Amino acid sequence: MLIFPDRYPRLCETAEQTPLIDTHEHLQEERDRLALGDRLDFACLFRAYLLADLVSAGMSRSDAEEMTADNLDQDEKWLRVAPFWDRARHGGYGRAIALTIREVYGIPDLNRDTYRDVTAAMRAQNRPGVHRRLIREKAGVSWYVLHHVGDAGTVYREGIDPAICRRVLGVNCFLRDSLPLDDFAARTGIRADSWEAFQAVMDWYFERYAADAVAIKNNCPYWRGLRFDDPPPERAAAAFEKRYVHGQALEPGELKALQDAAFHFCLRRAATHDLPVQIHTGYLAGNRNLDTDRIRPSDLTNLFVQYPHVRFDLFHIGYPYQGEIAALAKNFPNVHVDLCWAWIIDPYATRRALQTFIATVPVNKIFGFGGDVFTADGVYGHARIARWGTAWALARMIDQGYLGEGDAATIARMILHDNAREFFDLPSRPATLRSSS
Ligand SMILES: [Zn+2]
Repeated sequence: MLIFPDRYPRLCETAEQTPLIDTHEHLQEERDRLALGDRLDFACLFRAYLLADLVSAGMSRSDAEEMTADNLDQDEKWLRVAPFWDRARHGGYGRAIALTIREVYGIPDLNRDTYRDVTAAMRAQNRPGVHRRLIREKAGVSWYVLHHVGDAGTVYREGIDPAICRRVLGVNCFLRDSLPLDDFAARTGIRADSWEAFQAVMDWYFERYAADAVAIKNNCPYWRGLRFDDPPPERAAAAFEKRYVHGQALEPGELKALQDAAFHFCLRRAATHDLPVQIHTGYLAGNRNLDTDRIRPSDLTNLFVQYPHVRFDLFHIGYPYQGEIAALAKNFPNVHVDLCWAWIIDPYATRRALQTFIATVPVNKIFGFGGDVFTADGVYGHARIARWGTAWALARMIDQGYLGEGDAATIARMILHDNAREFFDLPSRPATLRSSS
């Protein structure tokens, strides 16, 4: 199945059979998927990422929005997708979907003759237990770490399958340009009418969920940069009062100070509760929104210095700043490299980056997989590309005389499973989980 690394059978076996610790997902709840019924169709596989590549290839934004709406039937959706699928299907997003369709549903390809078959196969599988079948039995994921991003006021989503899922506290909710204070009050019973009261709201979440969560998560590059200064508390208090007591708009510097202070508060609580801190660095999902000044991993450097006992998990290899991530993780003992999402953003850059990380950063600090998808089917194709890319990268290092095959297999096991399991303190599972795929 693995093409190039086949001559390293032990390495291939390890990559194929090692259960994955999936450091990052946004998956919908299974009950929401089951409730889709006949609204589940092939276009559900496109959610978020492939749609962005279709738009980049020329699809109109309105057509892209209709792909995930309910007002078109699947024939009308295919008519809109067809001209752009052939342009975008060779990218990582498209490859991951094609692999899922072929290897999970047994349909050779997605095209005008097969899209109805794909939909029918997805609906036939849409029974209770579908998430465990897709994520554990097919993709071979041992645990996944969930970041819920469905609505601005939900910091922590309860009620997910505890046998396979662990969750993060989405502290990005505390850094919004407009804080959802009504949502927080409804949940916590605390009306945030001052900076002190807002800190009590944040504390409520930490006190209630820190023992259950495996990390906190900040994905703020979608709306602001990664440079967090440490303003004096009175500056944050004044900004909070101006905006949320007097209802006045904040100057950019005031808004930044308020958000900076909120994140520093969360970092101190993360230190207290020994919770790792996951941070989005690098590429942004979507179209027409990439601001390369907002995504640089090196902007976080002062935090690594100020919080030496807080463990940072930097996402998406900082793409396209993977060299910065390598340097930071090499230099700071508390900085870790996470390949989540990267395998489908740019599969070849991620292979090369993995080689760089292995040759630069202590290998215990590399986390090799996070699906980062919204629809569970997508985990499989992404996991295939990650396992394949990992084996390919390591095989090249063996060929070049840099690694021995035994070391390469050990490293594969560490980066696909052991490192993240230890980092997030997840329970062990049997060594092999997958049914034959
Ligand atoms: Zn994500």
